Amino acid sequence: MLDVDSARERILAAFSPLPPVEVPLIEASGLVLAVNVVARNSVPPFRNSAMDGYAVRASDTAAASWTAPIALMVIGEAAAGQAAIRRVGEGQAVRIMTGAVMPEGADAVVRFEETDQPATAGCACDEVRILRAAKRLDNVREAGEDIAAGAIVASRGTTLGPAVLGLLASVGQSRTRVYRRPIVGVLSTGNELVEPSRDLEPGMIRDSNAYVVAAMAKQWGAEVRMLGIARDTVPDLTEKLDDARRVDLIVTSGGVSLGDYDLVKDVLRSEGDVAIWQVRMKPGKPLAFGHIGRTPLLGLPGNPVAAAVSFLLFGRPVIRRMLGHDELEPPMVEAVAADSLDNRGQRRHYVRVRLEPSVGGPPVAVSVGEQGAGVLSSLAAADALLVVPESLERVEPGTRLRAIPLDW
Ligand code: AMP
Ligand code: MG
Repeated sequence: MLDVDSARERILAAFSPLPPVEVPLIEASGLVLAVNVVARNSVPPFRNSAMDGYAVRASDTAAASWTAPIALMVIGEAAAGQAAIRRVGEGQAVRIMTGAVMPEGADAVVRFEETDQPATAGCACDEVRILRAAKRLDNVREAGEDIAAGAIVASRGTTLGPAVLGLLASVGQSRTRVYRRPIVGVLSTGNELVEPSRDLEPGMIRDSNAYVVAAMAKQWGAEVRMLGIARDTVPDLTEKLDDARRVDLIVTSGGVSLGDYDLVKDVLRSEGDVAIWQVRMKPGKPLAFGHIGRTPLLGLPGNPVAAAVSFLLFGRPVIRRMLGHDELEPPMVEAVAADSLDNRGQRRHYVRVRLEPSVGGPPVAVSVGEQGAGVLSSLAAADALLVVPESLERVEPGTRLRAIPLDW
């Protein structure tokens, strides 16, 4: 038997980030940057107004107050999107809108509310009374205040979330280099399985694993290829696996336990170098990993929850590594067990729980009920997996453990 961590290490050793590709910016969302991006321009590119008001020379307004306003001559108007207008000289002002280029000579903006001119409508006035002394650079955004030209805006390895993507757009990157999304081929195995669209004949069940696995893979950033259902026969399995070779990872479910019809493991062994392991975990235990030709294959157990938990523990880090992420493990939180629980057999138990907030302490992990490896409804009801270490034979209520929040 193999422990969970060694199994994951062995699997991960076979993967590295996929080759970088250049994609349109919007397609890079959520992916990992494969290069350092240098700003071609400053952001903002020019000194501009942060408010609607009047661009002035601060020194002209030094004596201004509500009781003793200072009158300035309005020499023009500056709106966002226009090139700079005339220079502001002594005793002069420019009516200016947010985002407009600051005119030469002016060094502060006085908001409409601090003048005698209303914000509404265009001003036909040629004079404005300033009601408050402005300080130099009041309501002015300096060129390069956000990003200086030549600076690295985002470095290799950064995950392109919305804000970073916006930074890249602001420095003129319409395309960018990211690690390619892996293509995950999903294959279910079993004589008893039918597609969800089909009627159930006696003895048959619908294939749910393919959808659970595919949805997880997509959520983690992979592209999915549905490879269908392989019957438990050598020819059918061999053919389906042959079709699967052009993906970055084949994920099968079923056929790796000890039953008579679990031929999958024989075919896997004869078609490639695939090993079947017994992993110290619950739900789950049998797990296959290896290669069909040059394509890596992860063989999950058939029971739906065992398949999902195994895919979370072994498939997620693999997909994240191919995507170029450094952080491969799911984030863990501390949680307090609400229920008692037996954990004999030296296996790491992933218990389906709901995390309930508690005042002044870690959340309380409440079991969602039936923990059978085939009970998918309790996985659907759970929002976390409470991790009971293999060495802990019994969990008493109040025990502090760690939990993996399920982000679906
Ligand atoms: P196996 O590991 O192939 O013996 O499967 C273990 C259990 O999981 C059996 O009860 C199977 O019917 C069930 N099972 C296997 N594959 C699937 C699947 N794709 N969807 C739902 N249940 C499955
Ligand atoms: Mg089977």
